[in-house]
Amino acid sequence: MIADLHLHSHHSDGVLAPAALMQLVAAQGVTLAALTDHDTVRGCPEAAQTCADLGIGFVPGVEITAGWQGQELHVLGLGINPGSEALQAHLSTVRQLRHARLIEIGRRLERKKQLVVGEAIEELCRTHDSPTRLHLARLLVSRGLAKDVAYAFDHWLGRGQAGYAPAEWPALETTVKTIREAGGQPVLAHPHRYKISAGALRRLLAEFGSVGGLGMEVAVGGMSSNDFERLAQLARANGLAASTGSDFHDPGIPWNPPGRFAKLPPDLEHVAARLQR
Ligand code: AMP
Ligand code: MN
Ligand code: MN
Ligand code: MN
Repeated sequence: MIADLHLHSHHSDGVLAPAALMQLVAAQGVTLAALTDHDTVRGCPEAAQTCADLGIGFVPGVEITAGWQGQELHVLGLGINPGSEALQAHLSTVRQLRHARLIEIGRRLERKKQLVVGEAIEELCRTHDSPTRLHLARLLVSRGLAKDVAYAFDHWLGRGQAGYAPAEWPALETTVKTIREAGGQPVLAHPHRYKISAGALRRLLAEFGSVGGLGMEVAVGGMSSNDFERLAQLARANGLAASTGSDFHDPGIPWNPPGRFAKLPPDLEHVAARLQR
């Protein structure tokens, strides 16, 4: 079994439509796939249909933006009921915050850097259910203001840069409860990527478990073997199930294809096993 439980479509900042995404995922040998767009479940019906046609397993999912001690976190909700009213209401709040934040980023870039992006950002918000900073990073690249999206984050959009704007995301605990209420498994996404100390990460994982979190990502596309070992150990220490996923967004980034990540150590419980129960 290859379970890729972290995938993005064009309903958030991925490039492919859900059907095309799942065709690629299946072609890469994945046998269980979760669609986890940022703060929207709009692509789930199409992805579910394509997976059924292709004969691979499908898990409806979402990657929800949450706040914890001033830090922006991502929590996967795996196996959620996309029709849950509590979930829909929560996601709609988060998407409003996304729109407001992008507009504020545009204002800051105009004020501080005389960069005229307000109209383009309004267009982004009109045409995207869940617009992200990655959309804006691609826009900066297309205007020749950054050589690639990593540069756009480092020089324009990241913390401390002219275009950085904070947002008051719903709290971690509220997010976890909403996922549970929608019948899903809360899984902390890519814990190695948060810029927090080792002690803060331990406190985060302990709190995540105590408010109802069930799993954490351990094998993520593109991670170092050092981070992989470290996360496996943290999953053990906190009694959390382990998840695997590529966090795939874009076929134009060939070094991070769907289905490519390390194999979990056999002593860890796989989130996929819990989902299939
Ligand atoms: P947002 O959720 O609006 O903050 O946008 C964050 C998204 O941008 C993430 O989900 C990633 O897909 C992408 N991203 C964040 N940081 C980087 C980076 N340094 N390089 C490339 N993509 C990034
Ligand atoms: Mn993304
Ligand atoms: Mn993420
Ligand atoms: Mn993601």
